[in-house]
Amino acid sequence: MNACDQALPNITALKPYQPGKPIEELERELGLSNIIKLTSNENPLGPSKSALNAIVQASKELTRYPDGNGFSLKAALAKHVQLTSDQITLGNGSNDVLELLARTFVSSNDEVIFSQYAFAVYPLVTQAIGAKAVIAPASDFGHDLDAMTTLISEKTKLIFIANPNNPTGTALAPKQVETFLKQVPESVIVVLDEAYVEYTTQQFNTVAWLAGYPNLVITRTFSKAYGLAALRVGYSLSSPEIADCLNRIRQPFNVNSLALVAAVAALADKDYVEQSRQLNEAGLKQYVTGFEQLGLTYIPSKGNFITVDVKRNADSIYQSLLQQGVIVRPIANYGLPQHLRISVGLGEENQRCLDALAIALEQEL
Ligand SMILES: *Cc1c(COP(=O)(O)O)cnc(C)c1O
Repeated sequence: MNACDQALPNITALKPYQPGKPIEELERELGLSNIIKLTSNENPLGPSKSALNAIVQASKELTRYPDGNGFSLKAALAKHVQLTSDQITLGNGSNDVLELLARTFVSSNDEVIFSQYAFAVYPLVTQAIGAKAVIAPASDFGHDLDAMTTLISEKTKLIFIANPNNPTGTALAPKQVETFLKQVPESVIVVLDEAYVEYTTQQFNTVAWLAGYPNLVITRTFSKAYGLAALRVGYSLSSPEIADCLNRIRQPFNVNSLALVAAVAALADKDYVEQSRQLNEAGLKQYVTGFEQLGLTYIPSKGNFITVDVKRNADSIYQSLLQQGVIVRPIANYGLPQHLRISVGLGEENQRCLDALAIALEQEL
């Protein structure tokens, strides 16, 4: 007997999340060095120096459990977004908070709405509960909020919206999101996933909506613009009531002490975030120009990655890029078998990727 047969059917039916290929794995496989990884939307600058210094200091206290309430980080975040600490829930990455939200509000009889081409973690946490995923068709690769509204039923408990969206990089205007919020019944939780918000130049403050929409939850992360993906730290902003509920099922020490101190330091390093944003903006332009020269179309992106249409099954191009030491992200598992998602790297990394792409396309002719 296979012990997995005893597992819940909704769990055995799950496909494990596919992470981008690690550099070490490609090194082992191909014996290459000088590999560049443009798969997971990480910050190519490396972490802020002040975050690294904070980690060195805190490493002396590793024998202690972390502050289970994350007092200092919540205080710093509260000041940053002008809310109170009791509106903040910290997670082991924002993925942790996304899962807490699903486990708090959704049962196996309920429905969760998200878009076609939505972030892979939404179907994962929905199916892990055994709830029904209701998928709204995309419009121009982005979220179609009208289509989502029409799918709301008595059973809908949660709606996930990523803005900007991953893996497509599409973004909704704040006005569109607010019109949508007005139409959603208060009994349905709307999760606005803002993992890439620091890269958007739009200065609109979505946090202000929390006062008017008690069913709104905003999630953010230190994994992208703050350059701390390895430490796993993210958070949600919500009403104190929702935060209180999430806190009941949260693992007591879900955010480790190095992550807590590094996040406080990274949040304070505004120059680093601004430098990251500018580097990203230049990198996106570089890709757009490069793709146009190669005759490829792409999905205009507001994130720190760009998704390109290679006009054939993308796997052969992906493989050719691997052979050239460039790791990008195939997204066939998102239903986009002809696209590759490329994270914006340093200028020279982007150039190497574009050069490798040119060679890959030529090999294919
Ligand atoms: C990267 C990403 C996250 C962040 O995940 P962490 O768990 O915080 O590393 C969340 N949502 C989306 C849409 C993302 O692309």
